[in-house]
Amino acid sequence: MRFLPSLFAGLLLASAASPQTQPAAPAPAAPSAPPQAAFTTIKVDGTENVYIFRYQGYQAMFVVTPEGVIATDPMGYVRPQAVATYIDEIKKVTSAPIKYVVYSHHHYDHIAGGKPFKDLGATFIAQKRAKEHLEALRYPDVVIPDEVVDEKRTLTLGGTELELSYVGRNHSDNSLVMRLPKEKLLFAVDFIPIESVNFRNMPDSWPIEWEDSLKKVLAMDWERLIPGHPYKGRLGTKEDVKNLLGFMQELSAEVKQAAGQGKCADTAMKEIKLDKYQTWLSYGQYLAGNVERYCYWWSRGY
Ligand SMILES: [Zn+2]
Repeated sequence: MRFLPSLFAGLLLASAASPQTQPAAPAPAAPSAPPQAAFTTIKVDGTENVYIFRYQGYQAMFVVTPEGVIATDPMGYVRPQAVATYIDEIKKVTSAPIKYVVYSHHHYDHIAGGKPFKDLGATFIAQKRAKEHLEALRYPDVVIPDEVVDEKRTLTLGGTELELSYVGRNHSDNSLVMRLPKEKLLFAVDFIPIESVNFRNMPDSWPIEWEDSLKKVLAMDWERLIPGHPYKGRLGTKEDVKNLLGFMQELSAEVKQAAGQGKCADTAMKEIKLDKYQTWLSYGQYLAGNVERYCYWWSRGY
């Protein structure tokens, strides 16, 4: 989705690899973010084998089993060093082979650059429409998925189950929700931003069906959500999903009304505010863009 330095302000994750130390400078007059390591690898609390690899403003989950590793999004868009680091970090945890790479959705910023995983023999999996898009687009630095999921598939490896579910169109038309039933963990990317306004004008999105997909996620059995972008060093909860759903429903209703008054798009983009959410990340930056997306929907039908 995007890289936001502000996301790191409260990040509490320890660096696995960086010897970086805080500079012994006097306290600045204005608040500023602490130095941020380029990447971190952490084991998720309360699990035996689930890890989050963060590279700058992106993160992916990987699951280690005695029979091999299930990795997710390579995150190597215009930065091959992210993929090399990701593989190195996995190798620090296990010598087991990387058996799978699962794409969260087809957007390059999360899934480009997977060739080094392919060279190690990994099987690539994505939702069916992700493969269709990637085959049509033929972006040179994207590995085309070997296998696809239509509605649901459970990967079983070395005693761990990872359930892959398609919950409908949302931020894209091919997002997969990855659920670890035993650990009650989800990995979902870009369509459940935590306490954050959606990216720009929600390009590629299905704004109303998106609400249904959030309801489907709420109906699943899980407790913690690993997002595709780090959020203040914490994982997401069902409360976060409910809050996002509330935000989207309220914004949609506001814009629908404005569309009926002929205010779409420019006037609505200037006038509509949802003060309740003004502390959310990107509120000032992207709220008008989100309004624009709903304006197209409610005033033009697309
Ligand atoms: Zn995306």
